[in-house]
Amino acid sequence: MTVTVEIARRGTAPAPRRWVCPKCASEHDPAVVKENLSVCPACGYHQRIGARERIVQLADEGTFVEYWSHLRTLDPLDFVDLEPYPERVREAQGASGLTEALVAGPAAIGGTPCVLAVMDFGFMGGSMGSVVGEKLWRAAAVAADEGRPLVAVASSGGARMQEGALSLMQMAKTTCAVDVLNDARVPFVAVMADPCTGGVVASFVSLADICVAEPGALLYFSGPRVIAQTTREQLPDDFGGAERNLALGHVDAVVPRAELKDKVANYLRLLKGGGQPDGLERRRSSRSRSSRTRRLARATSARVAAAFKNPGREPVGGSGTAPGSPEEPAP
Ligand SMILES: [Zn+2]
Repeated sequence: MTVTVEIARRGTAPAPRRWVCPKCASEHDPAVVKENLSVCPACGYHQRIGARERIVQLADEGTFVEYWSHLRTLDPLDFVDLEPYPERVREAQGASGLTEALVAGPAAIGGTPCVLAVMDFGFMGGSMGSVVGEKLWRAAAVAADEGRPLVAVASSGGARMQEGALSLMQMAKTTCAVDVLNDARVPFVAVMADPCTGGVVASFVSLADICVAEPGALLYFSGPRVIAQTTREQLPDDFGGAERNLALGHVDAVVPRAELKDKVANYLRLLKGGGQPDGLERRRSSRSRSSRTRRLARATSARVAAAFKNPGREPVGGSGTAPGSPEEPAP
């Protein structure tokens, strides 16, 4: 445990707190780093950011409206580890100011209307439980219904262990959500932010039409230590890094945060017009699923749709704000 003690001479103002880059150890004024989109001005290290900050960076000013913030997780397993699950959720809500690990709603990016869904790693490691899966599902349903592209920013440690198998089921549910988008021919753009792992990278994120990552982001299903122990092989030093994932064809591009909004806006414009962004053909064709898999996905999708009748519009009030959360501010 590290204990930081600040000592200021009596009668003098305390020295301003400095932000120290964990990669290059350079020190900066936190306000300067914030102004630089939370990227180190010296080396380009991309600091993790929360969902609200991400939405401010990506969405056109004043366009994002949060939906479904009234959804709350249950405790179906009466799960207790070091503390009861409901207590852990309350702590995460208090620390983050969010109700869950995913914030979603309609927005516009570069003038193109879309549905934006952003995960927050600060909320229980961005873990995907029932509410995260439900919100992603509803976001996709609204996107398909209204013909708006879905833009998802994923940052997650994987499934939420406190909900057991119900968390794992969100992988199938969110995968079906992508299939709903495919059937509606609505584009899906995913951004992988550090870290993007486990059940999230193994479900909806990797199925996006265009999948980009931030520089240096860790993207993998299992961590290098687990894989090295299981396979008894030496893994490369850059295992799981965004740049290696690009070289292997898992992502389409590695985009610095300063360019992210313009890139996403460009993708949305091109996909809306039926164009094909340069350099993306290889991955799109290589990820084509077999007809048998697609039939299975469609059948599963229909079953999920029947279980969640009219999921997109029912919870949304006529004013465009989610019931029970009129106080939620738009950035
Ligand atoms: Zn740095």
